[in-house]
Amino acid sequence: MHYAKGNVVPELPEVETIRLGLIPRLVGCKINRVVLSNRRLRVPVPRAKLNRWVQGSQVKSIARRAKYLLVNMDSGAVMVLHLGMTGRLAFFANGTPRRAHDHLRFLLDSGLELRFNDVRRFGSVQVLAPEERESPQLFAGLGAEPLGPDFSTPYLMNRARNRTKPIKNFLMDATVVVGIGNIYANEILFAAGIRPTRPVGSMGKATWDRIVEASRQVLEKAIACGGTTISDYVNSSGEAGYFQCELKVYGRGGEVCQSCGSKIARVVLAGRASFYCPRCQK
Ligand SMILES: [Zn+2]
Repeated sequence: MHYAKGNVVPELPEVETIRLGLIPRLVGCKINRVVLSNRRLRVPVPRAKLNRWVQGSQVKSIARRAKYLLVNMDSGAVMVLHLGMTGRLAFFANGTPRRAHDHLRFLLDSGLELRFNDVRRFGSVQVLAPEERESPQLFAGLGAEPLGPDFSTPYLMNRARNRTKPIKNFLMDATVVVGIGNIYANEILFAAGIRPTRPVGSMGKATWDRIVEASRQVLEKAIACGGTTISDYVNSSGEAGYFQCELKVYGRGGEVCQSCGSKIARVVLAGRASFYCPRCQK
């Protein structure tokens, strides 16, 4: 068993794929023991809270907000996992020797253990006690879920009013919409036929409609592609998303656009590589 290779930061479809992969092997299980390494993650690991609220408790359900995985425990607490840049989750048989960078091990009553492995330790594990569950500070200031009902043309037009930011940077702003990083911002704008450099304040209703639709379409397709790895999640690397679906423009500067045959252009926006087709995207 191996963890996924690669150093690409997970975006929303990857986290959603991981959530779907966790459900069949985690929901309904009791976490008999939580074993910690003594390393600090992005924030200190809450040992006392894990002991009190997670150890000995059963997993009721797993939800997601932005790129946080919310593991609802029957103790009434929520364990909140964030993968950061290099965090990974994978199942092993109980008693498999600990590997480098395994920071948390959740020993389940099913005979498996779930491990949180993180080379760079930008990930985090937090616990919201029952009384901390309502409107947690952790999620303050987060924008709309791109697959949720709040992500709409009126919402986006309102947030874009009088702003001159390029649309690509706007889509990557987590206070506007969560979970869209560099890869999917590029792919969404290709699907919508909109150039990444377009200033948001100048965009009309029809253009925003295309953004909303393209966002859903690209993210849902990516989740569906990631879904192909779920059936044998335990045996697989736990690798999700990215390379399952073919990317149309991301990382393809100088290559040929599949729609029109033009050469895909590359520009740098806010320090991030941005790719678009000069003919298909206006
Ligand atoms: Zn094209």
